[in-house]
Amino acid sequence: MNLEIRQQFPVLDQQINGRPLVYLDNAATVQKPLAVLETSRRYYSEINANIHRGVHYLSRKATDAHEAARTTIAKYLNAPHEHEIIFTSGTTDGINLVADTLALSGKITSDDHILISGLEHHSNIVPWQMLCQRTGATLDVIPVTDSGEWDLTNIDALLTSKTKLVAVNQVSNALGTINPIETVIKKAKAHGAWTLIDGAQSTPHMAIDLQAIDCDFFVFSGHKTYAPTGIGILWGRSELLEMLPPWRGGGEMIKEVTFEKTTYNDLPFKYEAGTPNIEGGIALAAALTWMQDLGLDTIAAHENHLLKLATEGLSDIEDIILYGTAPHKASVLSFGIKGVHHYDLGTLMDQMGVGVRTGHHCCQPLMQRFGITGTTRASFAIYNTEQEVDALITAVKKATMMLR
Ligand code: PMP
Repeated sequence: MNLEIRQQFPVLDQQINGRPLVYLDNAATVQKPLAVLETSRRYYSEINANIHRGVHYLSRKATDAHEAARTTIAKYLNAPHEHEIIFTSGTTDGINLVADTLALSGKITSDDHILISGLEHHSNIVPWQMLCQRTGATLDVIPVTDSGEWDLTNIDALLTSKTKLVAVNQVSNALGTINPIETVIKKAKAHGAWTLIDGAQSTPHMAIDLQAIDCDFFVFSGHKTYAPTGIGILWGRSELLEMLPPWRGGGEMIKEVTFEKTTYNDLPFKYEAGTPNIEGGIALAAALTWMQDLGLDTIAAHENHLLKLATEGLSDIEDIILYGTAPHKASVLSFGIKGVHHYDLGTLMDQMGVGVRTGHHCCQPLMQRFGITGTTRASFAIYNTEQEVDALITAVKKATMMLR
């Protein structure tokens, strides 16, 4: 990691309890580079106005910047069509949009099945459970192996012509496993099932080519890709977005409103009711451009190097259990120490300036699979250093000794 990159993240330059801050909670959210902070500052200090329908200068300028951001994001993702890019508030919002509109559409019946995996975040479980409750459909789950990978042994029994939708993540936030989404997408297609990919943890670490992935819906959150919180993207195939009904009602999503009847706007506006996060969308485009300029391969190579160092360093600790030992992983190291509670470990590490996440990582069913209530999770980003990996290992060792 070159120092120039690190210096672009002012928040990292601070002391915690008299020690340099070591921020290793990147799977929860990443810090923002100056390029993104400056984009947000300039938006509010030079442009801020409400978009669309405005005849005045600033409104036109804001609209142009907002729509230019959509273009940049569509190109970045290699989306087939720009009007398929829907601004959301994040991954959770995008998944709920698809689940709710599917329920409203009447396309899901009590004969249908929805398939998810045991590696999912709650936001890719609960909306489907709610859809099943509303429609009478059945939720099926791809099981997880001891190494934290999908167990596809019985996939042909799980993914059948009754499966209407497969919703899975590309990378697990709790274990870092990179999942073979291409296998499942191919099988889903063969059975005529739709596919939704939760890209919350993949988009920060790898290039996304929607036309190559060939899914039907793809969602991610800006705050994990160096952009602000409160902005995200749902990409969906036009045919499906056209077929599904609108979700939230309000301004922008309409063509004409009378008290008798409302007609709805074209894509993407049909799904963008109300004033959007204008600055967030523009900053998201800036963040993705920043990642692209740096190089997705450079980002992945650096994070993989740190992950390898940390995995080797922590493996030496007595009574440590590493959760998620798949050969293909991205950025996440989840572990536990026998006889030590993850919360106590994380709290002591924080006192040493090392910020990690503890708990179930919004994956309670996955924790149940491993018979635990949670793990301690370190996760890396482009600005982390080898010295910070050393600090992590030292902090785990010291905290473990204190808690024994
Ligand atoms: N899916 C995965 C795999 C995630 O890691 C997260 C965030 N931790 C989410 C979904 C939900 O993202 P958000 O809270 O930004 O909506």
